[in-house]
Amino acid sequence: MNCGCAEVVTPGLLDLFDARALMVASGVPVGGCERVALDDATGRVLAEDAHAVLDLPGVDNSAMDGYALRRRELAVTPSGLPVTLRVPAGAGVLRLSDGGCARIFTGAPVPLGADAVVPQEKVSLDAAGRVHVEDELAAGANIRRRGEESRVGDVLLTAGTRLNAASIALLASQGIDIVTVRRRLRVALVSTGDELIEPGQTWVPGQVYNSNGAMLRALLAQQGCEVLDLGVVADTAADLSQCFARAREETDLVVCTGGVSVGEEDHVRPVLEHLGGISFHGVAIKPGKPFVLGWLGSSLCDGTPLIGLPGNPVASLVGWQWLALPFVQGLQGRTPPALQRFPVTAGFSRRAPRGRRELLRVVLDWTGGAPVARLAGGQGSHMLGAASQAHGYLIIDSNNNVEEGHVYGYCPGAQFLD
Ligand code: AMP
Ligand code: MG
Repeated sequence: MNCGCAEVVTPGLLDLFDARALMVASGVPVGGCERVALDDATGRVLAEDAHAVLDLPGVDNSAMDGYALRRRELAVTPSGLPVTLRVPAGAGVLRLSDGGCARIFTGAPVPLGADAVVPQEKVSLDAAGRVHVEDELAAGANIRRRGEESRVGDVLLTAGTRLNAASIALLASQGIDIVTVRRRLRVALVSTGDELIEPGQTWVPGQVYNSNGAMLRALLAQQGCEVLDLGVVADTAADLSQCFARAREETDLVVCTGGVSVGEEDHVRPVLEHLGGISFHGVAIKPGKPFVLGWLGSSLCDGTPLIGLPGNPVASLVGWQWLALPFVQGLQGRTPPALQRFPVTAGFSRRAPRGRRELLRVVLDWTGGAPVARLAGGQGSHMLGAASQAHGYLIIDSNNNVEEGHVYGYCPGAQFLD
């Protein structure tokens, strides 16, 4: 039940967007790069600008299957132009003889002398095989000009770009087969909690499967990180200290889950205060309040940053997507993309929490022609079902009850996968 009365307004919580801005500002790139084959570069981050080494397209070429000709000759030859040349894709740059036209195919080099291509469906051939064209032809019609997309030396992709299929294809189109990318971020993953067991182990009542570990391994893999999985760590300050000390030596970033509130079984904060420090602790969101950014060592810049995510699985996911991800992107040398958010009508009513923004997991229903947000399922911070079904989040400002038919900010979930 979503009863606002039960909510405790905690003073000192950071606003969600302030916290996100802090994460963005704090995520400074870590050093190191490597050369990899283009085929191995999907999801990697370019370490330097990629420049065009060819004009693109490389030569004037046909945008259509059709006939390449001189417009002037077409205009003064009522008997039609004979086809004197055939130019399939892969042919070199040929020359069109005076008074003739060329049968040409998409992508084939336009022969020298021709100044337009007529699509084959706009051409009639007479009994002698001569080409007649009814319509007016503009100069350069259906010709893709050399260099119209890019010129030698142009910046094709800037440093910090994460390579996707299209950007890999763009590099391939230049003949580039090796790229310089940032080395993979090394991330230590720590799951705290005496109740946790790993999937595959036999469960007894009271135990909880470590779903956060599985989720974060997937999320970190999606970001191209190398994971040092330190498994489940017991709820003692000594165990946690030992684990953090190792993580600090071997990785660029520590991500832990659980034990990050302020109860007596929550050891992350005191251990962090002992081994390093805290940037901020607590964000005014539901779920995801007990989020911490800190460091192991002397400072956030010189030490190893540590992100403490809440134990509750959906809170952990929210903390990752909204706060940890832009920080990780910054460490990788990327510029975290701005949040995509647009107005969507709510198809339900619901009380808003006091003192915190709520990030409701919703699906978009398009059956009425325009999107209507519906709850994706139970909204408890332990309920992964709704999170697994959701298309995105409806953002509900604190104390602002949701009313069916009213419009709220919607953030598509897909943006957190890139
Ligand atoms: P905590 O933040 O440690 O107090 O944990 C809050 C809730 O999240 C408790 O119900 C924990 O059992 C649960 N929890 C903590 N860590 C995990 C995890 N790695 N996987 C699944 N549930 C967890
Ligand atoms: Mg715990």
